[in-house]
Amino acid sequence: MKTEIIRIDPGQPEQYKLDYCGAVLRYGGLVAFPTETVYGLGASAFSDRAVKGVFEAKGRPADNPLIVHVADYAAAEAAGRFTGRRQRELFYALGAEFWPGPLTMIIKKRRIIPDSVSCGLDTVGIRMPSNRIAAGLIRAARVPVAAPSANSSGRPSPTCFEHVLEDMYGKVDVIIDGGECSVGVESTVLDLNSEEPTVLRPGAVTREEIARVAGECGEYGWFTADVNIDKPRSPGMKYRHYAPKARMLMFSGAPEAVRRTILSRLRTEKSAGKRVGVLETEEQICYYNEADILLSLGPENAPEAHAQALFGALREFDAAGVDVIFARALKAEGVDDAVMNRMFRAAGGTVLPAEQ
Ligand code: AMP
Ligand code: MG
Repeated sequence: MKTEIIRIDPGQPEQYKLDYCGAVLRYGGLVAFPTETVYGLGASAFSDRAVKGVFEAKGRPADNPLIVHVADYAAAEAAGRFTGRRQRELFYALGAEFWPGPLTMIIKKRRIIPDSVSCGLDTVGIRMPSNRIAAGLIRAARVPVAAPSANSSGRPSPTCFEHVLEDMYGKVDVIIDGGECSVGVESTVLDLNSEEPTVLRPGAVTREEIARVAGECGEYGWFTADVNIDKPRSPGMKYRHYAPKARMLMFSGAPEAVRRTILSRLRTEKSAGKRVGVLETEEQICYYNEADILLSLGPENAPEAHAQALFGALREFDAAGVDVIFARALKAEGVDDAVMNRMFRAAGGTVLPAEQ
């Protein structure tokens, strides 16, 4: 397939370019576009054929549903419906606080949204992105836009145009070159159909922030969840994901204990002729000069910086051809909950205790 690359100004998106890309979507084409979380691969949420094209371009398993992106509440209500007044009020209260922004809310699906979007579930995840290109594109498309992240399935999500180019060139109609994603990890996925609203996937909107609006908020507990369970509530959670090509080993414990463990393992790997990478915070990275490539997640106490850096770093390790990546499990607080969730999955669902 011929892929068109269209550069759009992220600060002041050119309307004629948004109109063109919107028309590509409306008529059943695939467009990769920036959002504030990660780049998305969009298709008209009304077109079964276009949505199936998204699965094909990504090599995505057929049981991992897509999020429907909207530009206004009318479109949200066209895609999904509420089970009662309480749910409706909650949806609008959370929307008032966090939309447009990195929060996906799951409600019952309307029949106009094909089963290919929800992978047969009777629910649909809906999000209103804040990125100006994303918002303008969806408005210009005049249809809701079903979009997962614009990476090949299993690879780290794309946080800049170059990542999308790597994975999607030749597989989609248009790739928008629209700068970097400000958040860097995917949206918080919140289920509104359970007893209490429940976070199925952590993201930049934290459980505490949701609880402040909703009064309560549960979580799926990803750290203890088995990544291979057959029927998780959020289907995307069952796969090894976000994964670099290298083996990634993640250690928990006090920074000094983790440092000793990683250094000793690192020396073993090096003497076996392996290329080694270390992913650490700015404060810790200086201890690992023996590694082949050192990448920083930013300052220890800056979870937002960690989110912004993570996926790019995983891709950089791949580009550098490392065999093993060592990393430390940070305290899963605030946005670091989302960062640790992605790292945990990239490490294949295991965290090793540091040796005492
Ligand atoms: P994405 O952000 O790349 O790759 O994919 C969207 C994610 O949203 C999926 O992996 C699911 O975990 C989640 N999701 C979307 N729709 C639903 C739904 N109806 N029920 C539960 N989770 C969903
Ligand atoms: Mg994804």
